[in-house]
Amino acid sequence: MTHVDFEIGIIGGGPAGSALASYMAQAGHSCIVLEQEHFPRPHVGEALVPSSNRVFQDLGLMEQINQQFRKKYGSAWASPWFGPAYTRFAEREQPGVDHSYTFHVDRAAFDLLLLQHARKSGATVIEGARVRKVDFAETNQPRIDYTVEGQESSVSVRLVVDASGRKTLLGNQFKLRIQDEVFDQYAIHTWFEGYDRSALVNHQATYEDEFTFIYFLPLPNSWIWQIPITDTITSVGVITQKQHFAKNRAEREAFFWNCIESSPHLAAALRNAQQIRPFTDEGDYSYAMRHISGDNFLLIGDAARFVDPIFSTGVSIALNSARFASQDILQAFAHNDFSKASFKTYENTIRRGTQNWYDLITLYYRLNTVFVSFAQDDRYRSDLIKLLQGDVYDDETPIVLELMKNYVREVEEDKQNYMHALLGDLTARAFSPAF
Ligand SMILES: Cc1cc2nc3c(=O)[nH]c(=O)nc-3n(C[C@H](O)[C@H](O)[C@H](O)COP(=O)(O)OP(=O)(O)OC[C@H]3O[C@@H](n4cnc5c(N)ncnc54)[C@H](O)[C@@H]3O)c2cc1C
Repeated sequence: MTHVDFEIGIIGGGPAGSALASYMAQAGHSCIVLEQEHFPRPHVGEALVPSSNRVFQDLGLMEQINQQFRKKYGSAWASPWFGPAYTRFAEREQPGVDHSYTFHVDRAAFDLLLLQHARKSGATVIEGARVRKVDFAETNQPRIDYTVEGQESSVSVRLVVDASGRKTLLGNQFKLRIQDEVFDQYAIHTWFEGYDRSALVNHQATYEDEFTFIYFLPLPNSWIWQIPITDTITSVGVITQKQHFAKNRAEREAFFWNCIESSPHLAAALRNAQQIRPFTDEGDYSYAMRHISGDNFLLIGDAARFVDPIFSTGVSIALNSARFASQDILQAFAHNDFSKASFKTYENTIRRGTQNWYDLITLYYRLNTVFVSFAQDDRYRSDLIKLLQGDVYDDETPIVLELMKNYVREVEEDKQNYMHALLGDLTARAFSPAF
């Protein structure tokens, strides 16, 4: 066999890249992680779903994460007109998961912990290493070109894994990316210290602190997240469509405050708190890739696909894509076969899971009252919670999703139905022909 510097080269040390590096190193394979930043660094995506716990358990991280981060028992859904409606993870026992909660995390600390764990597990990690491109000219020996402090280097590997997040390094190099024209949401977010979180639901007695709160705004297809990071620090973000999003920063910040003003209690409480981070905005997201594996390469995490974050899906997909990819990669090493065919199970599993998330997201934006009523109905609640826990990879189309789609179709076709007027205008035809 030809000599390579490392068996696996991973581009990016976020949750996807770090988790995969730990899986591979713990299985005895040599791997290198090239991460362009120096950790800790801030990152969006602070509310997890419980399928992430499987990966923490596999990698021996559960205890440390349990000690370090704030628990998340579920999500709450509210708007100026309804709520809060709670969906609690404890209501459905999750096979293979020891805890009935997951976590709210400061991503700087969380990502650092995962990257350090990859190092401890035996992976070589280089921070400040920006990958420029991957050269696949030599059969079975891709070469990753990267730069550290202006110095150019390269490393040869058997398998390249792109975990570069929304930078989608290989997706761009191979022109695999398909932009989602329906979900073109933008976000602006920051952290507050000392904010009274119960203000979101007007100090109702039903307010519970250890939930991610999603609050629908009167502006179409727009919502706020409220994520408790510590006892006193809260992450708050506004998500809206590109068309509502201003071009310059000053206007965007004004937009954030205008959105907040639609709930006077929330606005007053936030103005009484101290904003402790500058605003950050994120845009132009939701995309898929034509394929997520090929000869000698795989895409994982956001590098493979990004779906709208309303159900706090991203980190769980990143971690589980590392988990599923690691299973195919171990087989590829066992058979010394790194052709695309070796990664078929991974590709199918991730496509199925992210499509299920995508369908749920589409349904939610189209008619969120259906989601709320299914969540409150004992016949469907447990199946819906299964999805919200992140157990989306088993079924081609979960029955509860089928039932919700049928329900929405009936409302779409019946103009007399009182819910017809509530239909949202995002129909997601680009990816989901069912609508
Ligand atoms: C507005 C918004 C809200 C969100 N909210 C949530 C949420 O509540 N919960 C949730 O689970 N998810 C959320 N997400 C999604 C979440 O941020 C991502 O899904 C998650 O971070 C994906 O992990 P990853 O490892 O794939 O990518 P990342 O975490 O982005 O990591 C990729 C890493 O690759 C590095 N990199 C990039 N290019 C290169 C290069 N050329 N060379 C070397 N290194 C490189 C980057 O520096 C980065 O560290 C949200 C996303 C958005 C946009």
